[in-house]
Amino acid sequence: MGGKILDGRKLADKLNSELKNSIEQLEKKTGIKPKLVTILVGIDSASEVYVNIKHKTCAKVGIDSVSIKLDENISMEELMNEIERLNNDDSIHGILLQLPLPTGLRENTSDFIERISPQKDVDGFHPVNKGKLVDYIEDLAPCTPKGIISLLENNNIEIKGKDVVIINRSILVGKPLIFMLLKRNATPTVCHTSTKNIEDHMRRADILVVGVGRPKFITKDKIKEGAVIIDVGTNRVEGKLCGDVDFDDVIDKAAAVSPSPGGVGPLTVAFLLQNTFTAYKKLLNYTK
Ligand code: NAP
Repeated sequence: MGGKILDGRKLADKLNSELKNSIEQLEKKTGIKPKLVTILVGIDSASEVYVNIKHKTCAKVGIDSVSIKLDENISMEELMNEIERLNNDDSIHGILLQLPLPTGLRENTSDFIERISPQKDVDGFHPVNKGKLVDYIEDLAPCTPKGIISLLENNNIEIKGKDVVIINRSILVGKPLIFMLLKRNATPTVCHTSTKNIEDHMRRADILVVGVGRPKFITKDKIKEGAVIIDVGTNRVEGKLCGDVDFDDVIDKAAAVSPSPGGVGPLTVAFLLQNTFTAYKKLLNYTK
């Protein structure tokens, strides 16, 4: 008997269709559509693919979206001014600065994120939103960990009391996930490149979350029998997308595995749209 496949696409479709209904209902009252603006600086083919997926999904649920493409040689001041312009535009409810930025601007990434209005920060990276998450307030929290929690909860996988091992400590995945797990009474452990005896941590995990960016990083000898495995990794091998988990190898030993692609990825986009709707409701004072 194989483990359960945690289908992120199916769940994202369900969440997106529910969101579409909610947007339609509220738009009837406000006469205003939610609007997301993405900023892409320079040319990065992977980022362009991600941004296009975000815009396509916005259109499906009834969110207006605009993509602003800026030259990679834009100055820091010009990018700051562009963000400020979007902050001051009342027709815009969500602002997303696509990362990574080109090399010349990358070291100032946190300054740009801080310039985005926290109320429009749909990625949840602004210090105000990070601080709220420490207090377990998740209204504008990062989208990938929200997707992970939703994948677990919607598949009735108990989080409370579980040993959850996360192999990733980035601001996109591991760090915010710690607080979401603590809120739900799990016991999270975060591993990274300096963790000693990392395989011992993997093998004791009830729930193992992996986002390292290395194909086949997780094989069946590294997991506990009956563990739940969440694959956040996105890698391209010989032109094909794959995750960090050797899916075919672990599926019989695990209780459940999220595939990649088709697991956390579609949910990350779904929660970007949810965050945009949350920002819209708050900006229009329609929170109930
Ligand atoms: P990142 O900032 O490079 O983080 C990678 C993390 O993995 C770091 O914490 C790193 O440790 C750790 N790591 C790398 N190699 C390791 C090893 N051999 N042993 C233990 N830890 C190791 O990348 P990211 O932005 O978080 O993304 C990680 C992966 O997830 C990528 O494949 C990315 O494409 C994918 N991703 C997917 C989604 C989605 O929606 N599906 C969203 C975000 C990211 P150190 O901190 O010590 O360097």
